[in-house]
Formats: sequence, C-alpha cells, structure tokens
Amino acid sequence: MNIALFALALIIFLIAYMLFRTSRLSKFPQPAAPVDKPDIDQKIVSTHLAELIRFRSISTESSAGFDPQPFLDIHRWIDNTYPLLTKNLEKTCINQYSLLYVWKGSDLKLTPVLFNAHLDVVPVEESTLPEWKVEPFGGVIREGCIWGRGAIDMKSHATGLLEAVEALIRSGYQPKRTIYLAFGHDEEIMGFNGTKKIVEHLKNRGVQLAALLDEGGLISIGMLPGVQDPFALVGISEKGYMTLQLSAAGSPGHASQPGRQTAVGILARAIALMDDHPLPARLDYFLPTLEKLAYMLPFRMQFLIANAWLFRGLLIKNLEKSPQMNALIRTTHAATMIHGGIKDNVLPASVTAKINFRLLPGDSMDAVIAYEKKVIGDPRVEIKVDEANGGWEASPVSPLDTPAYRSLELVTRQVFDNVAVAPFVFPAATDSHHYQPICANIFKFSPFALTLDEQHGMHGINERIQQKTFMGMIAFYMRIMRVWGDAEF
Ligand SMILES: [Zn+2]
Repeated sequence: MNIALFALALIIFLIAYMLFRTSRLSKFPQPAAPVDKPDIDQKIVSTHLAELIRFRSISTESSAGFDPQPFLDIHRWIDNTYPLLTKNLEKTCINQYSLLYVWKGSDLKLTPVLFNAHLDVVPVEESTLPEWKVEPFGGVIREGCIWGRGAIDMKSHATGLLEAVEALIRSGYQPKRTIYLAFGHDEEIMGFNGTKKIVEHLKNRGVQLAALLDEGGLISIGMLPGVQDPFALVGISEKGYMTLQLSAAGSPGHASQPGRQTAVGILARAIALMDDHPLPARLDYFLPTLEKLAYMLPFRMQFLIANAWLFRGLLIKNLEKSPQMNALIRTTHAATMIHGGIKDNVLPASVTAKINFRLLPGDSMDAVIAYEKKVIGDPRVEIKVDEANGGWEASPVSPLDTPAYRSLELVTRQVFDNVAVAPFVFPAATDSHHYQPICANIFKFSPFALTLDEQHGMHGINERIQQKTFMGMIAFYMRIMRVWGDAEF
C-alpha cells in the first residue's frame, strides 16, 4: 500500500513538474510599436519588379548555355531606373556580371553592413509551360500580384533593396555606417563566379562586415500543423552541402549467365540501406526555435517541447512526418542521380549514383561519410565526394545576443504586425555562406509572408508575389537599413 501511495505521489509530482515547465515556456512578447508606412508608390515599384523579371537572367548548369546579355542589360536598367542610387553609390562590376555598390557612411570608424541578393534565376521547364497562367518572363501584373520567374527567388529582394536605397536617399537619409549592396549573378549554380568573387574583392581590400542580410527563412503561413498565425524564421546558420558519388564495378558479359548480383543490384542495395538508416535526428538546433514559438502552439505541443527531456522520441516522431520539419532536425540525404548499363542484355561494367546530403551543424562531411560507409558495409561500393563542387560544411551559427540580431528581430516585428520571430538553421544553400571569412553575423531572412501555395512557386510553377507583400519588403529594407545604418555595433 505504501509503495502504491509513493508511486502515486511520484506521478503527481512528475505531472506537476512537467506542467510547471510548460508554463515557463515562451510567453506572448511585448508588442513592438509599429513604424510609419514609407511613402512608396505601389504601381511604380511593381512595374520595376515586373521589368526586372523580363530580363532572362538564367543560370544554366553548363556554362555553354550561359547568355551574358540579360545581366549586362540589368546593369544598364539599374543605372536608368535608380538615378539617385546611381549618383550616390559607387558601383563595381565583379567578374563582369555581378555588382557591388558602396553607400559610404559618414562615420568610417563603424564596420560596414551588407545586403545581398542574386540576379540570376532558375530556368522554366518546357513541360510546365502549359500550367503557367502567364508567360514566365512576361513580367505581368494582375490580380494584385507580380508574376514570373524570380518574383520570389529573388528579384523581389533585389528590386526591394534598390527601391529602399533610392527612397532613403530621396528622403534625405545618409547612413552613418557604410552600406554595401551585393548582387551575384550565379547563386543558383553555387555562386562560385559571382558572390565568391565579390567576397575575394572585399577581402583583398581588408573589408570586414558587422552584419549581413541575405535570402533565407521567411514569414511562413501554415507551416506548423495546428498553427494559423504566421511566424518568421531567421536563418542564423545554413546546412552544409555534399554530394557523394557511389560506384560499383561489374565484369561485363552476357546477361544469360549472370552472377548472383550485377553492379546495378549492388548499388540498389546500398541506396536502400541508406534510405532505411537515415542519419539520427537531433533536436539541439530546432528545439530552441520551437521554444521561441511555443506560445503560439497548441498545448499538447507546448507540453512535449517543455519536456523534451522525456518526450524527445515522440517529438522527433511528430516532426519527421513532414519533409520540411525533418530537414530541420537531421542531416538529410537524397539519391538524386543514377547511371549505368548500356543494353538490356549486357551485364553492366560500372554503375554510379549521386546522393545529395544537407548537413546539420555538428555533422561534419567526414563523419557523414564514415556513417554511410558503415551503413552500406560493402567493400564493393566505392564512396567518394563528388568533384563537381567538393561540398562544404554547415556554416557557423551567428550569435543571437548582439545588437545586429536583436534589431533585426525588432524591425521584423515592427514592420510585420508583431509577428513571432525565431532563429533557425536554414536548410538550403544561399550565397551568404561565401561571406563567412569576413562576417560573423550572417542572417538569412526573406522579409515576406507567403502561404505554402505561394512558396511552391519558388523554382516551380506560377511564381508570383502579391503587390502588398512586395511593399512590405521595401518597408522592411528601408527600416533595417536605417537601423543598421545608424546603430553603433
Ligand atoms: Zn535564391
């Protein structure tokens, strides 16, 4: 009886403790005072974005298909469209097609900041054309939206930054701190000829950056089940990138007398083993994100998050159901290419496959290779890093306890109606990781609220941005430029 009572007391205590922990999770933050809407003409700025979309500045996988003319046309277009910016900022063309602008601050003791956007876009797949409601490079404005490839990724950012600077100069603003604008021309193929060269140029001049803002997380609507309100995710790191090439050799011969397994079978088995043994999920980076957003989550989620020490497994099970969430809690892998064999009745001499990895901070390339070697456990499978880009590790995590981050969070809440803001590890690659050698405060954040349907337009079909969303971007850029431009950090 005593034991039963003791057990009951223990359970009651445990539940009380877990409820207490739940009650201590994040609270609704103090509302930030809104800022005045800037004086911008929606029609004019929308027309500018539509014009930029019309330049077919496409990044193609092979350099043979590269058409430089649209990039050169964009340079001229900026000169003509933004006369105040052109007059007041110093422009340098980097590697012919990328652009770097310097807006000199009045206090040269302050370390500069940089705003980044890429000018290139991904191509539009021929087969998807019938599904587009507009010509993808037509720069069409209708139904309150600006349509076309790049409307989201990321000509809206480029135009937004240009509009912000033009409007700030028009209003008589002069930053204390030097502000750079950087426009790379090949982000969609890793930025090696654009942003990488811009960074080299800055490094050679001894430039260090106090903070940098590039595309990344956004204000998501409908991303978390059970959450109606939008919330902003600011990337403070991005996942690393690595492609492993798997190959297996076989002895070519007649398919009528095969061995037990061909090179195709060897590789198929290796890939199946990898799929069945994903890298372990980890909550160390995503749990702080969830804790920050907890006040808007259903009680059940709050309870699990507050007591992750006990419910880790359950939490992971819940999260990994969605590919979007799964990408935030583990190093992912995806078999993306396979090649082998020459004829249906010939045993293949060699088969190769490519597996693309996105590495969570803390999982190094070497550690992932060692893990997969163990999982596959087959000496017949050769594993090596794909030579195409060599891969790179996850980026360092930008600190949160800094004026740069705190002001970014505040401005986001000021401009976007007190939206919840949380830091996270951005799961895809951006140009900004090239800046790591000269900047410790890199933030990957696209200042717009998009529904899941709108997000699908990115690299997809019917890419578009609402005009009022685009206006919000410009308001955000104007505000953050003023705050970073004047703050002493
Ligand atoms: Zn992009």
